[in-house]
Amino acid sequence: MSHAIRVRAFAKINLGLKVLFPRRDGYHEIRTIYQSVSLHDRLKIGLRRGPGITIDCDDPAVPAGHDNLVYRACEAWRAARNYAGGVEIELQKCIPVGGGLGGGSSDAAATLMGIERLTGDRLDFPARLRLAASLGSDVPFFLVGGRAIGCGRGEEIYPLPDLSSRLCVIVHPGIPVSTPEAYRELGLSLTEAREKRNVDSFGAWSQFSLLDWGPAENDFERVVFARWPELGAIKNQFIRAGTETALLSGSGSAVYAVFDSARKLNQVSRTIPRGWAAFRTRTLRRREFQRLLFQVSPRRP
Ligand code: ATP
Repeated sequence: MSHAIRVRAFAKINLGLKVLFPRRDGYHEIRTIYQSVSLHDRLKIGLRRGPGITIDCDDPAVPAGHDNLVYRACEAWRAARNYAGGVEIELQKCIPVGGGLGGGSSDAAATLMGIERLTGDRLDFPARLRLAASLGSDVPFFLVGGRAIGCGRGEEIYPLPDLSSRLCVIVHPGIPVSTPEAYRELGLSLTEAREKRNVDSFGAWSQFSLLDWGPAENDFERVVFARWPELGAIKNQFIRAGTETALLSGSGSAVYAVFDSARKLNQVSRTIPRGWAAFRTRTLRRREFQRLLFQVSPRRP
């Protein structure tokens, strides 16, 4: 790659997630609060003379062709900007795949931001948001970062003021949870009564969680913890260890906990079951997220 740029793609956790009702377009109407964390994938994006898009990913579990969201982001951006040149991308995965941490979506957003910086050819912000939303419901959040409310199917983003930074542990048991399947298992039908009840309960916890760290709810816990009780058990362990917020992220299977002290986090880290992936990370404020996006040291050997 002669002309290339490196970008970080940060993961997200959900500080709460309410599924309101299934919509007529096949999606579910949700309300959530997204929060960026420092755990990240790394991308190296380069331009080349010939046409086409190539992706070289270090994780064989991630699709390398058109099914990769990075590929789709490139393709959509090239169509939007009428860009005929080729793009090659090296993708180093650190965010567990299928963990509800938004890895693929974040990679897609980082691709859009990286390619625009590399070429100097930028969509205006609303057009970039629309393009991101066409790639996936979580993608727009990763253009903004920090803390934000997600409405609609998650793609309508309303940035929130940052809370104070926290240490965070994320555990992933390696169980893949299919998001469409988790929605199906919720078994929601289209009723106004349910919608009203869900909106009211979202209001109850969001009023609190908009202001500070504290208890939060994720509707997917009901179905995911019923199937994998060990995920509920680790959440309870985090609560006993004095976490401020512990929750299933997205539709799982990652569970996270934030702590106001390294001592508590160290203590609880020792209790994580063998064989589970555990990531010590921290929450990122929006300005930090934006500052760190392009500060990437070369790939580790
Ligand atoms: P979602 O809730 O959108 O399913 P997630 O955070 O649980 O997302 P991801 O790590 O984004 O999970 O992966 C979800 C699916 O997307 C996987 O099945 C994977 O094959 C596919 N995928 C496409 N592109 C990527 C990518 N760049 N990184 C990881 N997975 C990707």
